Order: sequence, then C-alpha cells, then structure tokens
Amino acid sequence: MSTHDLLTTADVAIVGGGIVGASIAWHLAQRGVTNVVILERESHQGLGSTGRSMGGVRAQFGTEPNIRMSLYSIAQYRDFEQVVGEPSGYKPHGYLFIASSAAHFAHLAANVAHQQSLGVDNVRLLTADDVGALAPMVRLDDVVGGSYCPTDGFVDPYSVMNGYTAAALRAGVRIVKNAEATRLLVEGNRITGVASTRGVVSAPNVVMAAGPWVAPLATTAGVTVPVSPLRRMLLPTEPFGGIPERCPMVIDMATGFHFRPEGRGLLLAWNDPDEAPCREPVFDPAFVEKVLLRALERVPSFIDLAVNPKRGWGGLYEMSPDKHGILGPTPVEGLWCANGFSGHGVMHSPATGRVVSDLIVDGRCDVLPWQPFALARFEAGELLHEPAVL
Ligand SMILES: Cc1cc2nc3c(=O)[nH]c(=O)nc-3n(C[C@H](O)[C@H](O)[C@H](O)COP(=O)(O)OP(=O)(O)OC[C@H]3O[C@@H](n4cnc5c(N)ncnc54)[C@H](O)[C@@H]3O)c2cc1C
Repeated sequence: MSTHDLLTTADVAIVGGGIVGASIAWHLAQRGVTNVVILERESHQGLGSTGRSMGGVRAQFGTEPNIRMSLYSIAQYRDFEQVVGEPSGYKPHGYLFIASSAAHFAHLAANVAHQQSLGVDNVRLLTADDVGALAPMVRLDDVVGGSYCPTDGFVDPYSVMNGYTAAALRAGVRIVKNAEATRLLVEGNRITGVASTRGVVSAPNVVMAAGPWVAPLATTAGVTVPVSPLRRMLLPTEPFGGIPERCPMVIDMATGFHFRPEGRGLLLAWNDPDEAPCREPVFDPAFVEKVLLRALERVPSFIDLAVNPKRGWGGLYEMSPDKHGILGPTPVEGLWCANGFSGHGVMHSPATGRVVSDLIVDGRCDVLPWQPFALARFEAGELLHEPAVL
C-alpha cells in the first residue's frame, strides 16, 4: 500500500502510541468515541520517551496549571486498577525536596503555601530533623529544611501505557504499528487526515502525540509547535540496602541530583545544565562520574554503590520554551496538540487525556485548565514560569 492509498477512516487519528497517545485514546473511548486509530511508527509501543522515563509523579510544582494537572493525574493513578482495569504500579513513596540554602528553603515555603491553597492538603514544609527522619542516609550538616508530599511518588510508565492501550482496544480503538505519519492533510484551514507509511487515515480530528518528534510533523500542516528534544540520562545501581523501605524520590536542590528506589537498587538522575541539543539519546559513559560525584555530596554511604555503566540509558525530554505542556487547538481546525511536557509527560498523561478528549468531544474542558497550556500563548507572549524543573 502506498502512502496515498486509503488505510482507513476514523473520527480521531492519534499520531504516537506512547503514554500520552494511549491516555487520549482511552479517555476518548470513555466519552464514547471509539472510532479512533493510533498510528505508531515503531513495531511496538514504548520505544520513545515513555519507556525511558523515571516514572516520577508529583504535585509539588510552582505553577497552578501544573499543580492542577498533577492533582487530577495522581488521583487517577491511585485508582487506576478500578478505573482502567489495569495496573499502574503507583507507589506513593513521596517526593522529598532538600534545601541547603535559605533561598531554596524560601522557594519551597512559597511553593508549599501555593500547593496547599490549591488543595494539596498533605504537602508540608520540613525541618532538617524531619528530613533526617524521612531519609536517614542523607548528610544533614548544611540542610536548612525541605518539603514532602506523601502522595507524590512513582508509577510504571510502561504498565500505564499498556494499560490505557489495552483498555482502549477492548472498547474498539485500533492501533496500527510500523506506521509513520509522514504528512498532515489539510484542506483550506481544516484537517482531513494524515498520510502514513501504511496509507492515509481520513479523519476530521488528528492529535499530535508524537513526543519529542512533533515539530517536523506539525510543519507539514504549516503549524509551528516549539518543541525540541533534549537528552536526559539515568543510571540504575546494583542492589543497595542502605535506604529505608519506603524511600521517597529524594531531590538535592543544591545540585539537582535526585534518586529513587528501583527494584533492590536505586535509579540515579542528574540533569546536566550543559547538555547540548541532541537527537540521538545515546548514553554517555562520562555521565557515571558526574552523577556519582553529586550523589556522594549528599549521601556519603553511596561510596558503596555499585554501578554498571552498561545498564545506564538516555532518553529525550520534549522541551517547550516555558517548560510547560502544549495542549489543545492549533490554527488548523481539527488538529490538536499534546506535547511539550518538558520532563513531566508521564505524570501529566492522565490529565492530558482528559483535556484533549473533552476538547474534541465538547469543545471545552471544565475540570482542568487548558488555556494556560494553549499553543497560542507563545504568539501572545503569555509564557508560564515554572521555577523548578527536573
Ligand atoms: C530520562 C528521562 C526521565 C524522565 N522522567 C520522567 C519522570 O520522572 N516523570 C515524568 O512525568 N516524565 C518523565 N520523563 C518524560 C516522559 O518520559 C515524557 O514526557 C513522556 O513519556 C511523553 O510521552 P509521549 O507519549 O508524549 O511521548 P513518547 O513516549 O516519546 O511517545 C511518542 C510516540 O510517538 C511515536 N512517533 C513519533 N513520531 C511519529 C510519527 N511521525 N508517526 C508515528 N509515530 C510517531 C514514537 O515512536 C513514540 O512511540 C522522563 C523522560 C526521560 C527521557
């Protein structure tokens, strides 16, 4: 079949079968829209950012739109098994932010007050002693305090993506793999479908859920989606016993080093501020020394950590200019964005599915704020500012 032949018709075509595309498909099916086709260019799902994520979920953000997206998403992750009928692997171990400067502590205090005002009832500001009680392995001599929210934590992104997909397929949604979307089809100012390497899907609605690869696709419809890929790396450790059983995600604000338990070991992360733009997320062995140096600065017992550099991996964040997602309509009628999560697409995929499906079905979403995430904000100069991005 050539790219010009008709593959199928649908009410909605979704480009990208990662966690975001899968969530949108499931949410559409919940609304009764099941004539939906997901196009995934790979032979199976999860080969994009979703399968390379750290899986962290948190309500501890600085901006109202992000906090509200997280509140919706974390509640759905908590109830995932009943609601979606599949496991999410949600572990509410909490996120523990550690401040070792007065400025960082003041920043946490302001964020906690803001989060509480928006309904994050269980987030709290910590003394240095509180930090030590939650994470006894941490060096405390310079710690001013911290913040902690016990319903933050982590999920298994792969399970979530597969769960949404399986439930959507049971409802009648279709997925076509090995199908790369090559061109968006526009007549006048209206989307009519999408051409792929497996043929054309004719559809009055097309959702761009192509993660870090969205920008070139959007261009084929004459739309600029300002998302660029940025490599991030993770390093798993061998089994390590020196942490509490319910160890939270621990973030050292002084360096940006963070870690969480993974199996019987840990997953170590550090976002290199000097990372150059890069489309191939190969793991750089130099990362091992960089992350371990910062790990040791905060947790002296990590001198005993054993790591195998061959087990490290890299992936791509999908960065937007203000590090917030880009959701909703585009200048082309029927063409929708679900991109630009800047490292938060796993934690915000449930809310994104709700927003995008409501917009397609009702033309509005009353339960979540989508206007602050609109593509139009860039032209209007109404950028958001999230001070803390991991
Ligand atoms: C190292 C690392 C750590 C992270 N940690 C976290 C975290 O702790 N918490 C969190 O919330 N987020 C985290 N993220 C970010 C998160 O992984 C992403 O935001 C999220 O996975 C985005 O999901 P997605 O479905 O939009 O994109 P993807 O998972 O990349 O899916 C996009 C899909 O689209 C397909 N595709 C692309 N172009 C086309 C095309 N033209 N035609 C057909 N298919 C196409 C791709 O093959 C891919 O399957 C992390 C990311 C990385 C790299």
